[in-house]
Amino acid sequence: MNRICVNCGSSPGFSPEYMNAARSLGSALVEQNIELVYGGADVGLMGEVADTVLQLGGSVTGVIPKSFADKVSHTNLTRLHVVDSMHDRKAMMFDLSDAFIALPGGYGTLEEISELLTWAQLGLSNKPCGVINTNGYYDLLFQFLDGAVSEGFMKRVHREMLLVSDSAKALIRLLDNFTVPSVDKWIEPNIDTE
Ligand code: AMP
Repeated sequence: MNRICVNCGSSPGFSPEYMNAARSLGSALVEQNIELVYGGADVGLMGEVADTVLQLGGSVTGVIPKSFADKVSHTNLTRLHVVDSMHDRKAMMFDLSDAFIALPGGYGTLEEISELLTWAQLGLSNKPCGVINTNGYYDLLFQFLDGAVSEGFMKRVHREMLLVSDSAKALIRLLDNFTVPSVDKWIEPNIDTE
């Protein structure tokens, strides 16, 4: 993997563990010679991952919509692409990256992870995606997704596409070894148990 896109909070979170996790992810990327692609802002966990990579001599590409580029753009990135819309931003971050990692975050982060997994289950993406579960932050999401499987709205094989680890290094290894399954998304009532 040459480039990983990180999706994460534009806020720092209340516990210092979240910012620590952002720093650990930044150093793991540089250690493994992987470039960072991200949302281009200098705020929250996003800014912390980018600053860590830059401080350690790594490469950072930001992609930010013009509507808020003036407000929160990081001014010191290796490359900054200013694009027309949030949709253009996600498309560009997707094209530039080999895999995706999410740290804790809010709606923006959740939306980005969900879209990537939606594309993967429809066969539109074969790029792996995982979360760093700092402080068990994503436990309730995993519970929700397990419920979606048991209630017949998601195949288990698609549930399992969302990789997870508490450690950045371990997650990068998981992503590197993962093959996104090629299985039809649609579930037939009482037939599909996959
Ligand atoms: P959130 O988790 O709601 O803070 O949203 C963070 C995610 O959405 C990031 O991965 C960004 O791609 C995008 N995003 C949301 N707010 C911002 C912001 N102020 N600056 C840059 N990107 C943002």
